[in-house]
Amino acid sequence: MCTPPVKNILGPLAPLATTVSAILAERLAVTLSRPSDQRRTFQSKCKCADCASVATFKASPTERQWTLKAAEHRRRHVESAVGGSDVDRETLRLGSPHALRLTKNTASSDRRVAEHARDRAAIAALSAF
Ligand SMILES: [Zn+2]
Repeated sequence: MCTPPVKNILGPLAPLATTVSAILAERLAVTLSRPSDQRRTFQSKCKCADCASVATFKASPTERQWTLKAAEHRRRHVESAVGGSDVDRETLRLGSPHALRLTKNTASSDRRVAEHARDRAAIAALSAF
């Protein structure tokens, strides 16, 4: 049985594979770092008092949780403002009004680590051709 030369397997796609490998290698050259404290980024164009409190919370190197006991429209506004930015959101339904609790997480960092793992696997797969 005869195995075709490796380059022939990709044929006209070989330049594309080379380009993709270069892009992945460039992404892998970025050094990943885990958050060293509880500071997280937060960008909001809103200037209300609740968003200012969230900004202070997100900028704190030590605070991990923040709770807002407020009417639903304020809790929903804060939830909307924080978006998916490295916080878990939980509504505490004890008493009235309910409370929104934000807990910082490392989702962005975790996502970048997972992306690096996928990039390394993709480069390995491409280099097999
Ligand atoms: Zn606001």
